[in-house]
Amino acid sequence: MLEHQAHRVMALTEWEERWQNNRIGFHQPAVHTMLKTHLEEVVSGRTGVRFFFPLCGKAVDMKWLADLGHLVVGVEFSEKGIREFFEENNLSYTEEPVPSIPGARLFKNSEKNIFLYRCDLFSFSSSVAGQFGAIWDRGSLVAINPKDRERYAGLIVSLMAADCRYLLDTLLYDPEKYGGPPFLVPDAQVQSLFGSCCDVKHLQSVDALTDRTRAWGLDSLTENVHLITLKDAGAQTQPR
Ligand code: SAH
Repeated sequence: MLEHQAHRVMALTEWEERWQNNRIGFHQPAVHTMLKTHLEEVVSGRTGVRFFFPLCGKAVDMKWLADLGHLVVGVEFSEKGIREFFEENNLSYTEEPVPSIPGARLFKNSEKNIFLYRCDLFSFSSSVAGQFGAIWDRGSLVAINPKDRERYAGLIVSLMAADCRYLLDTLLYDPEKYGGPPFLVPDAQVQSLFGSCCDVKHLQSVDALTDRTRAWGLDSLTENVHLITLKDAGAQTQPR
């Protein structure tokens, strides 16, 4: 199944073009239902959790989590997407260069609980903004070019603090019917990408077929959500 999309490449300029032409059907106006459903399991009794949003777009989930008292760090290539996020949520913001990433810019709201980096995700690392207590990955692993998945998984794992709870949303459909993005990510691949260092728990599957995805030529689409934690996380918090 995977070979159908293995060589599909979406250049960063193509993403930017989509933003410029408002072809951003991936954007949802309301907080994602699966994030809401599983938030307690992700937060796990903690307060003020540092959430990472890879490929964040202008997801309203970021504002929602910040309003709940968490801190949000996102990475997005499109400057238009980042500005629209702050403007559409009525947040005043400032911007500055990022000394450790040439060409990148950091946008932050005046309350200083939402920090969005405008750069290629692959130039981001834990040396820029530390590690995270939670990750919400919706439209990110499924948007990355399939050939970059191992590299992506390595980067994400390096951004996970010992107690990190990583909520990953993936999609299953027939790749002969639609070429992506979003790309298909079978559960077996989630396991092969993260299973060596992480425990992967399947939390929920929902039928995600809508008029929009039917128009892609699909007659079936399943959205899966997984909770990923570092394998030795428990060991690290045990008293010695
Ligand atoms: N997570 C968001 C956006 C999903 S669409 C949501 O759920 O709404 C994928 C987004 O990733 C697009 O906004 C695109 O501009 C951005 N993107 C794609 N490749 C990227 C990369 N390598 N680095 C940073 N952003 C990227």
